[in-house]
Amino acid sequence: MRKVFKEYGIYQSTLLLNYTNILHGFAPFSLSTGPVDFSNSQAPELLDFYKELGISKDSLCFVNQVHGDQILSLSTSSVKQGVSLYLQENYDAIITNRRKILMGIKTADCIPIILFDPKTDAGAVVHGGWRSCEKHIIAKVIQKMRQEFGSASRDIIAVLGPGICQRCYEVGEDVATAFPRSVLTPRNDKFLLDLHKSHQKQLIQSGVPDSNIEDLKLCTFHQEKEFFSYRRDQTKKRHLNFLYLI
Ligand SMILES: [Zn+2]
Repeated sequence: MRKVFKEYGIYQSTLLLNYTNILHGFAPFSLSTGPVDFSNSQAPELLDFYKELGISKDSLCFVNQVHGDQILSLSTSSVKQGVSLYLQENYDAIITNRRKILMGIKTADCIPIILFDPKTDAGAVVHGGWRSCEKHIIAKVIQKMRQEFGSASRDIIAVLGPGICQRCYEVGEDVATAFPRSVLTPRNDKFLLDLHKSHQKQLIQSGVPDSNIEDLKLCTFHQEKEFFSYRRDQTKKRHLNFLYLI
């Protein structure tokens, strides 16, 4: 669903809105100018957006994303509170049970995934492109939440945000061979890859109940007025997707 905060809107999950101790959102947009570009992390409208949500700009944590499967844990005490972290290290997921840190993932076609365990109040944000999906990043994130926070898969809520949908996502044989037939539809000599479904299957294989999984069913490629798409426009612009434990 779209929710509006004064000048800005974000896409939110009805499952996650049941919890008042978190703030989350996908792909913020300005009501007057459209999608907010997160590629410039200091853009005035982005800082304005945080302000409207009541989030301090000193509590942001972003990482250098590389389509891998490395996970940054913010549970360690080495991470300072009250300092923005724009890490240059390569990670494609962030997990924490610490309060008042905004964990952000940037996307434009890859699937952003937010995980939250209301039993242990731990959460994660994941950058789910095809390469990370092939490396089973979701399964690894859940495993790490289990190890670090004692999270049980059955309690975890998972939300898939705006990313390229299957009918827009044509891939060649080289990519297709990394995925099971159940997430591929042949078209001419290519395939259409269902990346949302592929992540969902991994969530279920990891023990997350089907009823705890929500796909917002938003496509960055064909909903062109609402989203940036790298594949459509070769743009450098990116959406922010975030989780903040209050
Ligand atoms: Zn589409």
